Amino acid sequence: MVEKGTILLVEDDRAMSRLIRKWLECDGWNVLMAEDGQQAMELVTEHQPNIVVTDWDMPIVDGLEFCRWLRKQPVKKFVYVMMMTVRASPPEQVEGLNAGADAFLKKPVDRTELLAKLDAAKRIVSFEHELTEQANSDSLTGLSTRPLFSERMEVEWNRADRHHIPLSLVMLDIDYFKRVNDTHGHPVGDEVIKMVAKTLCETCRASDLVCRYGGEEFAALLPETDEHHAIQWAERIRDAVREKSVAAGDRRINVTVSFGVAQRLADTANGHSLIDLADQALLVAKRTGRDRVVGYRTISASNAPSADAAPTIDLLARIPARDVMTTIVAGIGQDEFVGRAAKYFLRFRINSAPVVDEEGKLVGVLSEKDVMSIMLCPKWWETRIRDVMKTDVVSYTADTSALAIYEFLCRVAIRGVVIVDDGRPTGVISRGSILRWFTNCLAVGIVKIPDADADALREIRPERDLADFQVNPIESLLAAVNAMGSESAELQQRLRANATDLLPCIVGGASRIQELVNDVLACSRVANETQLAVDSGDSSEWLVD
Ligand code: GH3
Ligand code: MG
Ligand code: MG
Ligand code: MG
Repeated sequence: MVEKGTILLVEDDRAMSRLIRKWLECDGWNVLMAEDGQQAMELVTEHQPNIVVTDWDMPIVDGLEFCRWLRKQPVKKFVYVMMMTVRASPPEQVEGLNAGADAFLKKPVDRTELLAKLDAAKRIVSFEHELTEQANSDSLTGLSTRPLFSERMEVEWNRADRHHIPLSLVMLDIDYFKRVNDTHGHPVGDEVIKMVAKTLCETCRASDLVCRYGGEEFAALLPETDEHHAIQWAERIRDAVREKSVAAGDRRINVTVSFGVAQRLADTANGHSLIDLADQALLVAKRTGRDRVVGYRTISASNAPSADAAPTIDLLARIPARDVMTTIVAGIGQDEFVGRAAKYFLRFRINSAPVVDEEGKLVGVLSEKDVMSIMLCPKWWETRIRDVMKTDVVSYTADTSALAIYEFLCRVAIRGVVIVDDGRPTGVISRGSILRWFTNCLAVGIVKIPDADADALREIRPERDLADFQVNPIESLLAAVNAMGSESAELQQRLRANATDLLPCIVGGASRIQELVNDVLACSRVANETQLAVDSGDSSEWLVD
């Protein structure tokens, strides 16, 4: 007998449910049984059946309430619901339909009618399933599309997290694909894409997920695989693609593929970040000659600082995040409007800000990019910030070492992290903050500029070149202190003038002063750390020889 699928049968009358179950099983259905709506809810959550046959009158949770609950569930596939009832009046049927039922079956139940109606239900469910499959797969290659890939990624991500198992992602891109299109035409290009897709499918396990990520780009998610094994997998694909050829008129052409591989690490925030890491590795594969596999770890290892940089690493490791960050007074409320945030960004020339809930706790981050992305929508300025912000914000506590944050920002594409105290944002560290810190090191001479580089720098920045800056740290400190004075004077002026938007004005002014204070402190700390004399104001004693 052909297996027809699974039905959830919900009926409080045991004799009746036993009988119906027998009919269904004889007709090829697999049957799950529940005695009331409450039990049915549990079985739906656990087994996600496609067809439900439910009684109306039941104890605890009745058929109507169960139906209403079912329709509110975030299910990915359609569930067909048939209600068995003695209630046959039109108003009652309307009530049942409004609760979410798709069809009714009169009680006492007639076996032939029940089975015929279920066959009809199966036709609808199968058709819906087919449509979903089509929508989720790419028409050229039959591979998954990006939305389904993201969904599966989330499931695998959570599984890897729970059970501490590795998860790797491979991004791949066909080399010089445009040339194939330009030289041999799009139909040949299509065949090349299909060939690569087929090779991928032939080489992966049932648990792997491969998707067409974009034009000639693919992504493969490999559960329970570390970066080392993912690289081996990618190498096999690379070899297989090289060996295959595609017909182009009367000849055959070959293509190559570049790969970027990354494994989920302890500080990889989410699936997007993992894609980001694999993408960075892919970029390196492209830039270093194509037709190769590059693992993310190898590029981050080759970026590792050399022994010459040891004093800087040491310092950075001992400095807490609070000394590098730019302080913020408060984040923007998630229920405020985007228009207000846009004004704030423009006025203070910042490009992102932490977003907080009613209790002031960090819930996301809003950037200029997020605001821009909705500007073509009508009345975008009246959109709530919570609907636009990114929620995958990376946060650290104020006592985290600046080195950990530096290393993190070197690895990912995001611009900065938020520093929190008991969940409340107290500061931000952007790439800019770190750059500033390093420039200060340069200024007091802890990082020495070789003569050749100093000449080069002089050419690029004749007006204020870094080498001079380094030789004369007192001057650079004086410049910072002077700037503090003018910032402070400007702030005083604004306060006196009682400007309309006083709060952002204070925040902006104070943040700039804070950055300058950080500069001055960094200079003195660096000097102290390197045991240079800081007395008498004799600037020559600041020099490192
Ligand atoms: P690189 O080696 O750096 O990857 O360069 P490339 O030429 O492969 O990459 P580029 O991103 O410049 O070009 C990709 C091209 O793929 C552009 C687009 O017209 C083409 N393309 C995208 N989707 C399809 C498709 O479905 N069929 C065909 N034939 N071409 C496609
Ligand atoms: Mg009943
Ligand atoms: Mg491409
Ligand atoms: Mg390409």
